[in-house]
Amino acid sequence: MNHSGINYFTLISIVGLLLLPLYTLAKEGASHSKSDYNNVEIKSFHLNNGIYMVTGKGGNIGLCIGQDGVFMIDDQFAPLSDKITNVIKALSKKPVRFLINTHWHADHTGGNEKFSNFDTLIVAHDNVRERLKSGQFIKAFNKHIPPYPDNALPVVTFDQSMTFHYNNEKIKVIHFPNAHTDGDCMILFRNANVLHTGDIFFNGIYPFIDESSNGSIGGIIAAIDHIIPFINKSTKIIPGHGPLGDFADLISYQKMLKTVQVRIRLGIKNGQSLKQIISQKPLSDLNEKWGGGFLSEERFIGIVYSLMKVNDR
Ligand SMILES: [Zn+2]
Repeated sequence: MNHSGINYFTLISIVGLLLLPLYTLAKEGASHSKSDYNNVEIKSFHLNNGIYMVTGKGGNIGLCIGQDGVFMIDDQFAPLSDKITNVIKALSKKPVRFLINTHWHADHTGGNEKFSNFDTLIVAHDNVRERLKSGQFIKAFNKHIPPYPDNALPVVTFDQSMTFHYNNEKIKVIHFPNAHTDGDCMILFRNANVLHTGDIFFNGIYPFIDESSNGSIGGIIAAIDHIIPFINKSTKIIPGHGPLGDFADLISYQKMLKTVQVRIRLGIKNGQSLKQIISQKPLSDLNEKWGGGFLSEERFIGIVYSLMKVNDR
């Protein structure tokens, strides 16, 4: 039975080789292959007082680096954790002591499991932990996200706001309900005058608003209204996605959202279907400035229409 043993071994090897890429794909999320991450370059930009913006693939990362250690905001996708760690190590020999998740989406929390292995304390709004723990479905992308393992979950959660006193900074973390999701927070570095908005702000592009996680366009507009008294024309603003922004960029973004809200609301009030609204191209004057991101005009209208048609969210 010598040859059947070889056949069995060969069969196992072939099945293994066939399954490996599937396993890798499933682990990393269906929309990204391993090579997508191999080519990603992680770059850091110093803003003020040891605060950095770090870009790669996924949500923009914020870092506060100083004598106490490293305070980190969001961690992109799991396959990028080593590259991100290398960039942080080049900036500081001290450990990442705190890691805040601005919300639960995987392009902001994918590195949680890796960073928790370094004794980093993960902090987030109550709803972020609940959503990561239970697994999620995003209707707009027809995408299921399995529950995160226990060691990737936030260990400190809050419901309204909290303040860190770290690296000579006063770091204010404020929750805004039902904005991009129901677990969003913004992080304000009061001394450095830097704000990280999470995905409440997509700088220069139409945003995704997650209806499945109780997001709303009105909630984003309201969140920006609330944050305005805390910032000024010199504030450097790290958006969830897009380039570094400032006060004028944030106001311009809010104005765009208000315009879209009014126009889609009018269509719904007039009894128009999504198809009818799209056919009228109601955002044609906005597309040049905002339509260059990952959502086309049609997709963005579809998302806002779906949010607003039931209860004007
Ligand atoms: Zn998001």
